[in-house]
Amino acid sequence: MENIFGKDLSQITDMVTGWGLPKFRGKQLAEWLYKKSAISFQDMQNLPKAMRQRLEAECTIDRAASVAKLESGDGKTTKLLLSFSDGVAVETVLMRQPYGNSICVSSQAGCNMGCAFCASTLHGMVRNLTVGEMLAQTYYINDLLKEQGEKVDTIVIMGSGEPLTNYDNVLRYIRLLHEDYSLGMSYRSITLSTSGIVPNIYRLADEGIPVNLSISLHAPENELRSELMPINRKYPMADVIKAGKAYGDITHRRVTYEYILIDGVNDNLKQAQELVQLLKGQLASVNLIPINPVAEKDWRRPSLARIEFFENYLLEHHITATVRREMGNDIQAACGQLRNKYISKS
Ligand code: SAH
Repeated sequence: MENIFGKDLSQITDMVTGWGLPKFRGKQLAEWLYKKSAISFQDMQNLPKAMRQRLEAECTIDRAASVAKLESGDGKTTKLLLSFSDGVAVETVLMRQPYGNSICVSSQAGCNMGCAFCASTLHGMVRNLTVGEMLAQTYYINDLLKEQGEKVDTIVIMGSGEPLTNYDNVLRYIRLLHEDYSLGMSYRSITLSTSGIVPNIYRLADEGIPVNLSISLHAPENELRSELMPINRKYPMADVIKAGKAYGDITHRRVTYEYILIDGVNDNLKQAQELVQLLKGQLASVNLIPINPVAEKDWRRPSLARIEFFENYLLEHHITATVRREMGNDIQAACGQLRNKYISKS
């Protein structure tokens, strides 16, 4: 049996023309899968019976099943643990933002970047997710929203995993989201977040698609960044910033630098000054994220006053900066925590 959920139109068309069917049957099948979100071949009523039977005999539509679901007290955040055909499970989050429904999609089960503050990397990486699995996360939530007359408006590829080390699948996923026969999403409503895989930042810039790029920076000093993010030893900070600048220059999209604020670690005046020096003159903005405490470390959030001081310093020096709105803290929406709970239970 072959899973066809995740194949694009040309792959589907190749399959059906290989069966001796006309090309337009491929388009119809793709529309059933993606536009109409059909989960059974029997529902695909404009396909000939023989084609449906062959699909049934040889193909599957692998979607995702919910293993756990948590709703935040304010009803704005829904966190799901979704599992795939081999039992691997990842977190996907829906955030009802003022500007629309935003979802946070995982690109790998676990992660091997080893960032010191991140819960997703504690158990290493299990495997890359396929195109179909990233799409299945998206459709799971889109189908939920459809019942309420809504849809997914924006996507951040910011769940577990490093999307730029699963490059081909992630790019095929993004392109598929954009297709008319699928969700028809604009590239501008999609954001990819990376720990700074430099060569693939350049590659992404040359794809000719205006997706938003977020770069996890977290420190303005090379040495400190290496301590927090081991990948910095392979792709040092200066090269990451250079790649971010090139991304902005090539795509004309403003690059966002994510900066976790950790009390007494990366929140002092000198570090604010260094950050300004690094980003001066770039089409960039900084997203300050008060750290979500992780069990294994005694890192804490800076005081509110400290957070505001840091933000204001950037603003006064003409660096666009925002403090991330906190959502879903009461349901462990942050970064791999739900999955870890599930792994340690089972
Ligand atoms: N690997 C990619 C995407 C996944 S992480 C990346 O590194 O960008 C998504 C974001 O969550 C990153 O900015 C990451 O640094 C941040 N993050 C991880 N753990 C966190 C924590 N404990 N508190 C706040 N943000 C965290």
